[in-house]
Amino acid sequence: MNRTSVKAAVLYEGNTHYEVKQLEQDSPSAGEVRVKMGAAGVCLSDHHFLHGDATIDKPIVLGHEGAGTVVEVGQGVTRVKPGDRCILSFVSHCGMCRTCLNGFPNVCETNVAIGPRMYDGTVRLHDNDEDIFQMSKLGVFSDLIICPQQACQPIPDDVPIEVAALIGCSVTTGVGGVINNPNSKMGMTVAVFGCGGVGLNVIQGAKLMNASRIIAVDIVDHKLEFTYKFGATDTINSAEVEDVSSAIKELTGGGVDMAFDSIGNSQVTADTVKSIRPTGTAVMIGLSPVGDTTPIDMVDMLRGQKTLMGSYYGSTSPHESFRKIVDFYRKGDVDVEGLIQRIHPLDEINEAFSALDRREDGRGIIKFPD
Ligand SMILES: [Zn+2]
Ligand SMILES: [Zn+2]
Repeated sequence: MNRTSVKAAVLYEGNTHYEVKQLEQDSPSAGEVRVKMGAAGVCLSDHHFLHGDATIDKPIVLGHEGAGTVVEVGQGVTRVKPGDRCILSFVSHCGMCRTCLNGFPNVCETNVAIGPRMYDGTVRLHDNDEDIFQMSKLGVFSDLIICPQQACQPIPDDVPIEVAALIGCSVTTGVGGVINNPNSKMGMTVAVFGCGGVGLNVIQGAKLMNASRIIAVDIVDHKLEFTYKFGATDTINSAEVEDVSSAIKELTGGGVDMAFDSIGNSQVTADTVKSIRPTGTAVMIGLSPVGDTTPIDMVDMLRGQKTLMGSYYGSTSPHESFRKIVDFYRKGDVDVEGLIQRIHPLDEINEAFSALDRREDGRGIIKFPD
């Protein structure tokens, strides 16, 4: 079979860093496309696999936040054509399972069951005889990828490719997680725990809902300072207060209407529940390490008639979130450029992830040559 040589960052079993190397890529099968990557985001979810907080089939090319240009299409592809610039969804929804049919393709069950393989159960990347998986059927830390056509959402020409890349995960997860939540109300008060890529976008989502107070919570002062640019009205360094929920209650006269855990930490999730007012909603929006559980005060939960819920990939159809966010971006209502603080070539991917470890502000981007 005809194979194309691609340059990709591979994670092997037991590795805590990426190896950038040449791999061989098959042609797109029926319903699949080949995309030339433009930009990829450096996300905490990749980090979990890198540091062993989550498990995944290996060897694998990670990366699930990206955008690029379609260069080749397989048989029967109708959604996109060569030349289309696209945001890539990290859930290639099947369209036929119960969650898809109920309007939640973001949590497609078939996609989860098949994992980092294509829908026919095979892979498209090889290192000589060894098969290489692609995270979320994408693996965007590669100059070319093969993915299912349903991953692709075409975008207008005036949306820069690095902006499109971030809409592929952090912007949609954060902004979508607020504006698509049925409990979000205009003028609500909000607390956002964790001010990384997702947290900053939760803040932007709260701003879009015209939240009257947006309280940013983190343990790093410069990250808190950074949140004001995106709409925070107050900040709390949780390492410097005895009890963060008391501090939030004091600021808001009894607690916020909604609180978001953008980190995925059991103590933080418990704190979000404590920080909301009676009838308030706490939302888990950052991915926790596998197996984590959280201690919730059950009486407070029941007597306060509180809600604790998960939100995955913007809470609803990612493509619908992409569409709305692209329009918000073009209107100037969502700042994506301001999130981008570092740009690296693929060869510097390990350095790009070290910046996450150092808790640097905003988002890092892997930029591919034109
Ligand atoms: Zn992500
Ligand atoms: Zn499905």
